Parts: sequence; C-alpha cells; structure tokens
Amino acid sequence: SVTLADLTKEYGDLTAVDGLDLDVDDGELLCLLGPSGCGKSTTLRMLGGLETPTDGDVYIGDDRVTDEPPYERDTSMVFQSWALFPHKSVIENVAFGLKMDGVGEAARRERARDVLDVVEMGEFADADPEDLSGGQKQRVALARSLAIEPDVLLLDEPLSNLDKRLREQMQLELRNIHDEVETTFVHVTHDQNEAFTLADSIAIMNDGDVEQVGEPREVYDDPVSLFVEEFLGDTN
Ligand code: ATP
Ligand code: MG
Repeated sequence: SVTLADLTKEYGDLTAVDGLDLDVDDGELLCLLGPSGCGKSTTLRMLGGLETPTDGDVYIGDDRVTDEPPYERDTSMVFQSWALFPHKSVIENVAFGLKMDGVGEAARRERARDVLDVVEMGEFADADPEDLSGGQKQRVALARSLAIEPDVLLLDEPLSNLDKRLREQMQLELRNIHDEVETTFVHVTHDQNEAFTLADSIAIMNDGDVEQVGEPREVYDDPVSLFVEEFLGDTN
C-alpha cells in the first residue's frame, strides 16, 4: 500500500504539490487524473524518490521512505518515452534491472521470459528493440519494470505517445496485466477515458491537491465540486 501524508513540493515561489493526502490499497490500480500542470508527475516522482518533498511524508506499506533514494524503495517507474537500450535484445533489456538485484544469469533469463509472456511479447525475446512498434516497445518497457517485482508500479502517461486506436487497446491490456501481476499501480493520466477504463479508483487533482477520490462510477455520479464536475464534463 501507499500513503502520501501532507505531501508538498515547492519550486521557489511555485507550489506544485500542496499538502496532498492519498491512500492506495495493496493491489489497487489508482489513476491520478487532472489537467496539465496540476502536479501529477511531481507527486509520482516524490513517490518514486526522484524528487524530495519540501514537506510531508511518503509511506510504502508501513515504511516511511520519504528520504530514501529510488533504489531503496520497492517502486518501479514506467515513462511515456520508452528508453529501451538499443544495443541489447528485448530479453536483455528486461533482464537488465535484475543484475543489480544480484540474481544469477539463468534465473534472470527465466524471470525475463515469464514477464515477457505476461505482456505477450515472448516471441520477440531475441528481437532488436529498434524493430518493434510503439506499442510493442511500451510492452517491453512495462515488462522491464515488472521484472524486478516492485511493490508499487508507477506509470506516468505511459500510453500518451501511442495513436488513439493502439492506446485504447493498450488500456485494456494494461488492465489485464495489472490483474495478472496483482501489484499496486499508480497511473498518471490527463485522459479521463483512460482513467475510467483502467482504474479501481480515481484521484482527481486540481492545483497541487486531490479534490476527490473514489471508484470511477462514484466520482462520475457524485462530483464533490464544480471543478470535478466541469473537468469530467469536458468531452475529449
Ligand atoms: P502534465 O499533465 O502537463 O504532465 P502535471 O500534472 O504532471 O502536468 P507537473 O509536471 O507535476 O504537472 O507540474 C506541476 C507544476 O510544477 C507545474 O506548474 C510545473 O511547471 C511545475 N514544475 C514541475 N517540475 C518543476 C521543476 N523541476 N522546476 C520548476 N517547476 C516545476
Ligand atoms: Mg506530467
């Protein structure tokens, strides 16, 4: 599980995240949804340890990890840019992160094969990442993050570089992958259709804080503020 308590990030005069409180249950898929600049990525980066809060705390399970570096946390991050190593095969890309965990060569390959199967990329194990489509690359990037078996997977607009049709297909696949691995996912998006397709719960952010958290249906039927109502009312 994840707990963010009074989490705050200031950049000079600008308050990017403003006393944010949020709980995410074990195995839950939570979408952080909100307009551009509301502080979604900053929140996610503090959760993953890529940014230090000005104030407040981050807990993973019962551990306070606020001051821990990324590699000391059981988190793993997936970005919108795929960033696969170009001179390594697909399976080497996926196995790479396991090196630092001190897993032996044979066990690394076996673990990498298993997660490639989960994302339905098993048959591309020996392919060169350069020869893959955008959606395939994103699946490999996801497999690489899942290979280290994080407690929490952090996804920052992972599908936003894909065209609409592929994006919609990947939303459903991501949901299936989540159900298979049973890891906690915190998924950032500004696309409400994506959030409604994927999420167990949605946290709607405005101006550095969470305005409302709930199951998609609940948030949609009972917006707590004019902001939420208008944000969800915007057709896209
Ligand atoms: P988007 O949907 O466009 O990705 P976001 O919700 O992820 O937006 P953030 O990237 O978290 O928003 O940014 C929140 C605010 O903090 C913005 O006003 C942004 O300009 C500012 N900000 C983010 N990172 C920095 C930084 N490193 N230095 C200064 N300001 C920053
Ligand atoms: Mg962002």
